[in-house]
Amino acid sequence: MKVLKFGGTSVGSATRIKHVADLICREQGNIVVLSAMSGTTNSLVEIAEYLYKGNVPGAQETLNALETKYADVIEQLLSSTDMKANARAIIDRTFALLRSFFRAPLTEAGEKEILAQGELISTVLMQCYLCEKGINSVLLPALDYMKTMQNGEPDMQHISTRLHRLLDLDAGADIYITQGYICRNERGGVDNLKRGGSDYTASIIGAVLDVEEIQIWTDIDGMHNNDPRYVDNTKPVSSLHFEEAAELAYFGAKILHPSCVLPAKLHNIPVRLLNTLQPEAAGTLIYNAAPDGKLKAIAAKDNITAIKIKSGRMLLAYGFLHKVFETFENHRTSIDMIATSEVGVSISIDDDSRLAAIVDDLKQFGTVSVDRDMVIICVVGDLEWQNCRYQAQVLDALADIPVRMISYGGSNYNISVLVRKEDKIHALKALSKKLF
Ligand code: ASP
Ligand code: MG
Repeated sequence: MKVLKFGGTSVGSATRIKHVADLICREQGNIVVLSAMSGTTNSLVEIAEYLYKGNVPGAQETLNALETKYADVIEQLLSSTDMKANARAIIDRTFALLRSFFRAPLTEAGEKEILAQGELISTVLMQCYLCEKGINSVLLPALDYMKTMQNGEPDMQHISTRLHRLLDLDAGADIYITQGYICRNERGGVDNLKRGGSDYTASIIGAVLDVEEIQIWTDIDGMHNNDPRYVDNTKPVSSLHFEEAAELAYFGAKILHPSCVLPAKLHNIPVRLLNTLQPEAAGTLIYNAAPDGKLKAIAAKDNITAIKIKSGRMLLAYGFLHKVFETFENHRTSIDMIATSEVGVSISIDDDSRLAAIVDDLKQFGTVSVDRDMVIICVVGDLEWQNCRYQAQVLDALADIPVRMISYGGSNYNISVLVRKEDKIHALKALSKKLF
């Protein structure tokens, strides 16, 4: 058995849903996790925002547009009058439920229920379409098995028991469809696994069922070795270690969030990134690969701020870094890169909303300076420190680019440098040329 997850754009229109249906029917007995159709969760978030602000007409307008969209999708997706009527009746109930939230001030529980509707609709539409095609498809309601505990973590025991039971009830189906993202919380209320959480759903299901493989289908042919927007001739990376994928995830490099991959990693289940638009392409396989001594990819993250704290008091002192780090903790700001010397420490952050207050507090400990509009460029691969040549090649490629910080040795998997925004593209190209 495999788990196949399709993101919002993959099911973003009637045509795309039909295409996904063809893909998932190529093999029998798999579990298919669907996101909401693209744009839907955003619209639902918007509706909730309007309701929180007491702007019911605003919510109504967004909801009406969504309703029209789904009426069109049903028309284009389904052919028989009966099936169209069936789908319309289900969707009508969904929209009636959504409208029921317009009558009273919105609560957090209400918001969660609103946000859950996107996945509930996309899976119903797929189920209707498969049914019309004569496929024995079974809908596994995520709200009947997916559950988080008080600490927000998935309740793996509960999920496993419930999911096995549901599968036993409908053993031998051609295909099983389920909702990504949505779940119940410890109180039994409707909840979700946070934005983009459908990948997490796939990883959790894969882990509890100990499947052969988890496939994440999107619109790109796997993870590329550099950013195709800036660098020509980038290539998909054929395989990545889970740790390498985790390093790259921070860079928003169209890849799974590290916490989403965790269940797969812990249960040693390979995750394959595939492209719905090019289903035959090999994509990228993420697994607990043996070290291969290879560089895999280069990625960049924009809008980074570097903060330097220089102090004579740091020399031979202990506890200095603790105080600096505590300042960031007090302002709930996470630190990305760090570089230290005997008399100073540089730290990078990507959320500068508390910058002024942080700088103010840091002034107790030393002289503080700030560089904005910086970019982290990260080279990811099997960078075991005994392998000598890679760090030299990285620095060599950047020979004519001013580098503000360097970080290497934090893990076996990355070398990061901080450069100015205006040097980013040049740096990405130079690294690709040198390393690949
Ligand atoms: N529909 C949800 C979102 O847009 C979950 C997902 O797509 O993974 O965040
Ligand atoms: Mg998504």
